[in-house]
Formats: sequence, C-alpha cells, structure tokens
Amino acid sequence: MNAQSPPEIKRRYESVLERLDAACSAAGRPRKGVKLVAVSKQCPAQAVSVIAAAGQVDFGESYVQEAVKKREELSGDPACENIRWHMIGHVQSRKVADVAGAYALLHTLDSRKLAAALERRLTALGARQAVLLQINIADEPQKSGAAPGDLLVLTDYIMNECPHLELGGLMCLPPVFDAGEAARPHFARLYALRESLRSRLNLALPELSMGMSGDFAAAVAEGATLVRIGTDIFGERQSKH
Ligand SMILES: *Cc1c(COP(=O)(O)O)cnc(C)c1O
Repeated sequence: MNAQSPPEIKRRYESVLERLDAACSAAGRPRKGVKLVAVSKQCPAQAVSVIAAAGQVDFGESYVQEAVKKREELSGDPACENIRWHMIGHVQSRKVADVAGAYALLHTLDSRKLAAALERRLTALGARQAVLLQINIADEPQKSGAAPGDLLVLTDYIMNECPHLELGGLMCLPPVFDAGEAARPHFARLYALRESLRSRLNLALPELSMGMSGDFAAAVAEGATLVRIGTDIFGERQSKH
C-alpha cells in the first residue's frame, strides 16, 4: 500500500466523516441512519489501528485469508478491541469455516449453495450470522451477486431453511463505469427491490449496503444505511488481487 503517515490517514478519515455528514444533510436524513464501514482491504493492520483509535468501529474486508491474518495481527491491540468486522467480498462455499459466526455482518450472501454451507457450519457451531443478500444489480455477467429475478426464491429459502442466518437487507456493487451520480439509478433499483421484498414477504430488511468512495453521496440520497469506503480513507490501493 501507499506510504501514508498516520496523521494523513486520520485527516482523510475526518474529511470522509465531514462529507458523510454533508451527504446526510443534503438528503434530509439523520446521520445516525447511515453507518460508515471503513474498507481496509489491502491496507496494513497498522492503518486499521490508526482509524480505530480515532473512533471508527466498523471495518470491512474483502478477502477471507487476508482478513483472518489482519484480525490476528490486531488481536492484542487495545484500540481495536471493539471493532465490528464486516465481510464485503465474495465468499466461496469452501471458505465458510473462516467466516460463519465470525463477522458482525456478511454483506455478500449471493447463492443458495453459500447459504446452505453457512447454515450447516453455524448449526455445528451453535452460532448465528447476520447477512445481507448481494444483488447483481445491473445483471453483469462477470459479477457475483444474486440475479434480481432470483431474489424472492433465495429469500424464501433463507427464511425457511436457514434459521441460523439473520437476513438484514440487501447489498449491491454497481458497474465501475457508473461512478458518482451515474450510479444513482442502480441504488434506486436496490431500494425498490427491498421495498417489494418487504411487502411480499412481510420482512423488515432495514439495511441497504451501497455506496463507495466515488458514489456514496448518491447512495445516501437513495437510502443507503451502510456505506463502504476504502480509498478515500486509506488512499489508493497498490496491488490488485
Ligand atoms: C473495495 C470495495 C469497497 C471500497 O471501495 P473504494 O472505492 O476504495 O471506497 C467497497 N465495497 C466493496 C464490495 C469493495 O470490494
């Protein structure tokens, strides 16, 4: 990653908090209705510690093995004791042992196969896992996420067959070329999907995880309750997996 100093990371973090305040005001929404998830993938553990010491509680990781290693590294750090970890990357069914019951929220449940694997593992552990359904909002062939058309059946399966999964809402990752305001119709679509699920299945589904560095203001305007921000806090990531 970049050679950014702790004061620089902290300054960036504070600037993101200010912009998030502004986005909430502009949307006429209370700030407490939008949670910031600081996305620390490909960033060193030390950068996490800096932001945690500044008061950040929710952190998101995208790669299961990297997250396991980073959390181990931070386990003795008093600044990181109260961190709530979020898994925001794709999880393969064979990796469920490292994920089930280990996250405050898994944002990327996207198939019946993964739901079944998680449920089996959670049953064995006697644990529960809060999850969001990741939706492939623009029907992109290369992207993970459930197809909008499969949402009803998948939700039904989780509600009826997976008592150890707590379904809290939906998540999306719009096409990269639709950054900023251009992403807004995708966010509106996720909101509408949630509303229709709500009324058809009589579920609360309070959470909408949408919005990143380039488009979080638009996501907040369309009803995001969780925004996932990496680059604007930690700087450009150098390596790509
Ligand atoms: C990397 C990532 C983010 C953060 O993106 P930035 O543009 O760096 O803010 C958010 N969500 C997911 C799913 C990601 O993989």
